Amino acid sequence: SQRIRVNEGREDEIGRLVKTLNSLLDRLENSFYRQKQFNADVSHELKTPISVIKAQIEEAIDSEKKLTSDQKNILLTIKKQIDQMNQLVSQMLLLAKVDGKNIKPDKEEFDLNVVVDAVIEEMNNLASEKNISIKKEIREGQEFRMKADLSLITQLLLNLIDNALKYSKNSGKIKIILTKLDGFYRLNIIDDGIGIAEEDLDDIFKRFYRVDKSRSREYGGTGLGLSICSWIVKIHGGEINVKSSLKKGSNFEILLPEE
Ligand code: ADP
Repeated sequence: SQRIRVNEGREDEIGRLVKTLNSLLDRLENSFYRQKQFNADVSHELKTPISVIKAQIEEAIDSEKKLTSDQKNILLTIKKQIDQMNQLVSQMLLLAKVDGKNIKPDKEEFDLNVVVDAVIEEMNNLASEKNISIKKEIREGQEFRMKADLSLITQLLLNLIDNALKYSKNSGKIKIILTKLDGFYRLNIIDDGIGIAEEDLDDIFKRFYRVDKSRSREYGGTGLGLSICSWIVKIHGGEINVKSSLKKGSNFEILLPEE
């Protein structure tokens, strides 16, 4: 982050004013820093209690025979909310990292195609709950070797495919197209879901922005996913863009350099 300073060195009234201004800027910067650190610490401290509660609730749900259906429904509702909280806290932890200074991706070599397959596999349960098919298109025999931060690229794919599922109707179709270009890869995640209105397109990458607050409650989610995606792409020197039309679907396009 850049320090904002006004040149000091004058002994007159303006000089004193400049000193006061600089000391105010120092205090402002410190308070920003403390606020960020506070967010990171709170998120971190919430992780353990949340995972304990989650485990206990899952155990209670599994002891099915002893429960009435009302009790079971209550537990399922609590579980859904805990999962939501868990997602929010994980994303806030990631964002705390984003706000840190000069974060560089921790690069290793892997095949992007293999990672895409693994993420599709992981999302398959969720997809079949809504009877949605996820199909991948690549040119056979091509290699998609790249050097990047594997855990962040996995997170990026999870967020985008999770959104495609969340904002699709039952029996929708999701298509993932992986293309090799000169020195970089293009990834398209295309759904035929609810789509995004033109006037919202610029805002969806902002933190906590959700197109329809009331509707989003029913879909779950935090409004942080896409801001994390755009950060991940940016620190890799890539690009993320979206084309979408209401009620027809969305196409999220990512460009990532090979290394
Ligand atoms: P959320 O956790 O709410 O999904 P995101 O940052 O991932 O947060 O997305 C921001 C908003 O963009 C969402 O609330 C949703 O309104 C819209 N959005 C994202 N992906 C899609 C998609 N594939 N189809 C339609 N709307 C989407």
